[in-house]
Amino acid sequence: MKLDILAIGVHPDDVELGCSGSLLIEIKKGKKAGIIDLTQGELGTRGDATSRAAEAKKAGEILGVSVRENLKMRDGFFKNDEEHQLKLISVLRKYRPDIIFGNILDDRHPDHGRAGHLISDACFLSGLVKIKTTDSEGNDQEKWRPKYVFHYLQDWYHEPDLLIDVSDFFEQKMKSVEAYTTQFHVEGQIQEGAETYISTPDFLQSVVARARMLGKRIGVKYAEGFISEKKIGLKDLDALVLMET
Ligand SMILES: [Zn+2]
Repeated sequence: MKLDILAIGVHPDDVELGCSGSLLIEIKKGKKAGIIDLTQGELGTRGDATSRAAEAKKAGEILGVSVRENLKMRDGFFKNDEEHQLKLISVLRKYRPDIIFGNILDDRHPDHGRAGHLISDACFLSGLVKIKTTDSEGNDQEKWRPKYVFHYLQDWYHEPDLLIDVSDFFEQKMKSVEAYTTQFHVEGQIQEGAETYISTPDFLQSVVARARMLGKRIGVKYAEGFISEKKIGLKDLDALVLMET
C-alpha cells in the first residue's frame, strides 16, 4: 500500500502531540496517511507497552490513519546506526510516502532528537539503490526517497520554517491526545501512578497555548509548527494563509 504521508514518532503519542492536526487535514482531503511508532514507550513512568499499544490504536482510529505499526526499538536506548536505519528504510520502501512528519532534531527528551536524526538519515539513505533491504517475504525492495521531511515541534521551542493552520481540526487532535489516558490529564479520569512532567493539567494547557501562539503568528486560532532541512516549494499561492498579521 502506498501512503501519501507517514508520520513517525519515537514514542506513541509524539505524533498526536506534534502533527496530528496536519495529518487530519490531509486525511480529510482523501490522502492516505500512516503512523510509525519507533518504540513502545516502555520506559514511561505511567502505563506499559500493552496499555500504550491500546491507547495508540484508539488514537489512530480517531485520526483515521490507514496503518499504524510499531517497530519495537528499545525506548531510551535505540541508536541512530546502520541496524536501526535499515529497519526504518525497509518501512519507507514498503509504504513509499512522499511526505514524512518526524520527531524534532533537538529536544528535552534525548530520544526525540536522536529519532529526528535517525528519521532524516533513513529518508536520505532509502533513496540509494545500493543499499539493499528486503520485505517481510524476503523480496528485494526498490529504493524510495520521501520528498520532504518535516520535523514537528515538541517540548522545546524552535523557530518553525512551516506553520500549518489546524484550527478546524484542533478539537479532534486533542481527542487523539486524550486517548492516552495513562499519560495525560484527562478530565473526569482517575489518574494512576506517579505524577510526571506530562501528566499534569499544566502540560496539556501548554500544548494548547503553544498551538495558539503559533496560530497567532499566521493570524489563525491554532497552528502546528515544523522545521524543514530543505527549502519548501509551493506549486502556487493557494496554499498561503491570507491573514493580516
Ligand atoms: Zn516523546
